[in-house]
Amino acid sequence: MNRIWNFSAGPAVLPQEVLARAGDEMLDWHGTGVSVMEMSHRGKDFMGIADETERDFRELLAIPPGYKVLFLAGGATLQFAAVPMNLLAGKGKADYVVTGEWSRKAVKEARAYCDAHVAASSEDRSFTYAPPQEAWKVRPDAAYVHYCSNETIGGVEFHWIPDSGGVPLVADASSHILSRPLDVSKFGLIYAGAQKNIGPAGLTIVIVREDLLGHAQKGTPSVLDYRLQADAGSMLNTPATYPIYMAGLVFKWLKQLGGLPEMARRNDAKARLLYDVIDAGGFYRSAVARADRSCMNIPFHLPDERLDAEFLKGAAERGMVQLKGHRIVGGIRASIYNAMPLEGVQALAAYMREFEKRHG
Ligand SMILES: *Cc1c(COP(=O)(O)O)cnc(C)c1O
Repeated sequence: MNRIWNFSAGPAVLPQEVLARAGDEMLDWHGTGVSVMEMSHRGKDFMGIADETERDFRELLAIPPGYKVLFLAGGATLQFAAVPMNLLAGKGKADYVVTGEWSRKAVKEARAYCDAHVAASSEDRSFTYAPPQEAWKVRPDAAYVHYCSNETIGGVEFHWIPDSGGVPLVADASSHILSRPLDVSKFGLIYAGAQKNIGPAGLTIVIVREDLLGHAQKGTPSVLDYRLQADAGSMLNTPATYPIYMAGLVFKWLKQLGGLPEMARRNDAKARLLYDVIDAGGFYRSAVARADRSCMNIPFHLPDERLDAEFLKGAAERGMVQLKGHRIVGGIRASIYNAMPLEGVQALAAYMREFEKRHG
C-alpha cells in the first residue's frame, strides 16, 4: 500500500483509520453478511447507523435542543436554492455577505427566488478579507442573512461569529465544519457538503433551528422541504446511505481523538507550520489579510508564477499532490482538513523551505 499526502480541496483526504475500518467492514457489516451499501435504509441495522451518526454529530458540535439535523443529498450547491425556498417565509428579501466564489454563487442562485441584497462584500480587495461587523448592512426585514464562513478557494475564514441583529444567520460551513468548536445557538441554519471535512461526496448536512421549519414556498420539491425531511428523519426518499455510514465512522474517529477542542489545537498547529514558512522569508506570499486567513485552505503564491509548475512537480515527486491553486486565484493551495496528519503538513513545510533555498 502506498498512501500519499493528498492536499485536495475536495473530495478530500479521509482518515486512514476510517478507510481501513470501512475496508474491514465492506463485505460483512457486523456479522450481517452484507455491506452497508446493500442494506435497506429502513431496516434496523441502517436505522441504527443513521441514529448513531446523528447522535455523535450532535455531541461533537454540542448542538443545543431546538435544532434539527438533516442528512440530505445534492451538495452544498443545492442548499443555495433550498435555503431561500425554505426560509423566505413570504418575505421576499434576503441578505448576503459576499467574500469569494462560494458566497457569490449562493447569492446568484438566490436571485431566482427573492430580492437578494449584498449586505457586505470584500470584492473591493479581490475577496482577500472578511468584512468586519461594522461593514455588515443587514436589512432588519430580511428573512435571513447568508455568509460563507470559510471560503475554500480564496482561503478566507471568519474566526468570529457575526451578530446579525436578530435576523436568522445562515452559514455555508462546508470547508471548516468540525475543525473547531462552534456555538450553534448563534445560527438559524448551518449547512455543509460532506466531501471536505466530514466524509465522502454525496451527503450534505443541514442544522436548522426548528422555528424556521414549515415555511417552504409553494412548489418546493418535497425532498427539498426541511419540514418534510425533518418529520421523515431525512428519509423521505433513499438517503446517501454509504456516505452517512462513512461520516459516522469519521465522527467516532473525532470523538476518540478528543473531539473538536483537540481538532482546533491540531488544526492551529498545522496551519501555523505553513503560514510561518510563508511569512518567514519574503519568498512566498499570501494575499489574505492575516486575521482572516483560513486554517483549512491555504492559498499562496511563489514570487514568479513560472515557478509553479516546477514547485508542483517537485511536490509530486515527494508524494504530495493536489496542490495546484484554483484557477480563479492561481498559485498553490494546500487544503489541510482534519484528516490531514501533522506529518503531511511537516513534509510540505520542509519542501517549501527547500524550494525557497533553491530559488530564493
Ligand atoms: C465545495 C463547496 C461548495 C460546493 O459543494 P458541492 O457539494 O459541490 O455542491 C459550496 N460551498 C463551499 C464553501 C464549498 O467548499
